[in-house]
Amino acid sequence: MTSLNLVLLGAPGAGKGTQAELLVRDLSLVHLSTGNLLREAVESGTGLGREAAAFMDQGQLVPDQVIIGLVREFMQEHRGCLLDGFPRTLPQAEALTELFQELELELNHVIEVRTDPELIVSRLQQRLVCTACGAPYNLKSKPPKAEGRCDLCQGSVERRQDDEPETIRKRLAVYQAQTAPLVDYYQEKGILLTVDGDLTPEGTYAQIQAALGVDSQ
Ligand code: AMP
Repeated sequence: MTSLNLVLLGAPGAGKGTQAELLVRDLSLVHLSTGNLLREAVESGTGLGREAAAFMDQGQLVPDQVIIGLVREFMQEHRGCLLDGFPRTLPQAEALTELFQELELELNHVIEVRTDPELIVSRLQQRLVCTACGAPYNLKSKPPKAEGRCDLCQGSVERRQDDEPETIRKRLAVYQAQTAPLVDYYQEKGILLTVDGDLTPEGTYAQIQAALGVDSQ
């Protein structure tokens, strides 16, 4: 298959990470999760990590210039990208449009994983993540095989610091204010595909496959 460039758009807890794992597996895309990238930087205590941590702990977005610079570097080095968690603001979306033009590449589709906000708080309270590779887990529906250890890389599987109810509510408000307008932005460009994120991961993925017109295995 020719290489696609995709964006996954959706509120915190919509299941973007889980859908990204499936898409990367089936379409051989290069996955860029800006959230995972920032958490790695925080873990390793880099300058970027120190700058980002203050925003992340408050449930706020990291400044546009910082994140745009990171994505620019990544896109220059990779082809066939799945962007997960970027763009999250209109200036980021506009910068991405310019970047695609500059690199003479096409953003093929933006997949909006739409969820019921009521479900998200309880969902995120069950979420676990590998601190080493970012693989997503769930306390109830997808616990790691060995408690606290990632099935893939043996890294430590923990709750995210920003998955506390108070911070979750802030992140949802930030999503509504700053990220939700991107739905219209991409709708107008004619590249938006919307799927139901309230289904099981497999159910949501089946909708994505149908929308992209790729075969289910
Ligand atoms: P995520 O794992 O995608 O939920 O991201 C976790 C946190 O990282 C967010 O709450 C933001 O603080 C920060 N972050 C991730 N992606 C972006 C982005 N595109 N723009 C600004 N901040 C971001």
